[in-house]
Amino acid sequence: MTSFTVEQTSLDLEAFWMPFTANRQFKAHPRLLVAAEGMYYTASDGRSILDGTAGLWCVNAGHGRREIAEAVHRQLLQLDFAPTFQMGHPGPFELAERLVKLLPADLNHVFFTNSGSESVDTALKIAIAYQGIRGQSKRRRLVGRQRAYHGVNFGGVAVGGIGSNRQFFADLTPGVDHLPHTHDLEKNAFTRGQPQWGGELADALEQIITNRGAETIAAVIVEPIAGATGVLLPPLHYLQRLRDICDRHDILLIFDEVISGFGRLGTPFATQYFGVIPDLVTVAKGITNGNVPMGAVFVRQGIYDTITQATQNGIEFFHGYTYSGHPVACAASLATLDIYEREGLLTRAQQLAAHWEQAVHSLKGAPHLIDIRNLGLLAAIELQPIPGQPGARGFELFRRCFEQGVLVRAAGDSIAFSPPLIIEPSQIDQIFATVAAVLPQLA
Ligand code: PMP
Repeated sequence: MTSFTVEQTSLDLEAFWMPFTANRQFKAHPRLLVAAEGMYYTASDGRSILDGTAGLWCVNAGHGRREIAEAVHRQLLQLDFAPTFQMGHPGPFELAERLVKLLPADLNHVFFTNSGSESVDTALKIAIAYQGIRGQSKRRRLVGRQRAYHGVNFGGVAVGGIGSNRQFFADLTPGVDHLPHTHDLEKNAFTRGQPQWGGELADALEQIITNRGAETIAAVIVEPIAGATGVLLPPLHYLQRLRDICDRHDILLIFDEVISGFGRLGTPFATQYFGVIPDLVTVAKGITNGNVPMGAVFVRQGIYDTITQATQNGIEFFHGYTYSGHPVACAASLATLDIYEREGLLTRAQQLAAHWEQAVHSLKGAPHLIDIRNLGLLAAIELQPIPGQPGARGFELFRRCFEQGVLVRAAGDSIAFSPPLIIEPSQIDQIFATVAAVLPQLA
């Protein structure tokens, strides 16, 4: 196996326990990034790597944005840290007001967190607290979906649908049912855009409601597009059907937009793209262009009012993080929003989507491919797994693309593409030309 040396860095790799990584294999054959600018990373051996994944689905405005760096620098010198418990500072107020303008009308309150995982667990707690406060205290159950990724905290693991993440932990958060996932290769393989088939899979929610009783269910959480498990798209009408069923049974609907938020589909959020409005929205990643950790939960007016008006005196909701609304994260986010707005990045995916779709679907017919999926500036190809070695072929493609100077993301045997929204058409072509060249080399 070829590997890249760490000669320029002379690092000892042992002490850092790497997250979601095969530590022993990685440390034998490391890949290190040492700089980034625009659409490109620089690897430790000096090579340029075209970023086909916006880092980890987060660097939507591209790398090395001076404006964000300068805002962070200024903020650190002006007010490095201030609590937001029973006191405040201007950052999160200003930021919340800017952010809610990007969402449909009454998703107009923001709870700040530091990550997607924290946003998910915060949203689940808000949903259950809301139900209890409005006198529906039996509504404590949650509904997630198979093949969902909602981060790694206890709530997110329980509503998530990935076996390896759930092992050991999911049963510690009881009271969760899962909808079936919407990925059907037999009926929908190689569909451009949203699949035609599968909208009725939303009706599985009716079955869960019949089994458990509507009066026991607090909320349903879904990613509008399941990103981390391989860009699984919602079939036509699916999200609207979920919304309708939730409305009929007075159940809250949460969209986890940690990946789909901040322009990935050519609208500020997926809620606008699909025309379906949830009750809560979780975000992170693109909120600061991935430059400083931050997440947020958007909440409808009625939920905020119910919770904050229930208590006459004192704290209404016993939840929050030391770094909720951290001044530096707020400064980074405000500078990021300035860039998104000035450069039209939240709608740029609309202009590039046709070229993007054409480019990824031009791979059709290449060896090993069993599916191609795309929407906005998001896409995946799925490879036939090697029998008995799930994920091995996907990882091999990732590794070879990295050697060829393109960063892609392997999710098992699906390969995801989600570039910075500043990408140029020629760079789109470079990503898929590299993948086309690598596919025939795979075992
Ligand atoms: N939800 C979704 C939909 C995600 O894609 C992710 C991360 N990829 C998370 C939650 C967790 O975010 P974080 O890693 O920032 O905790």
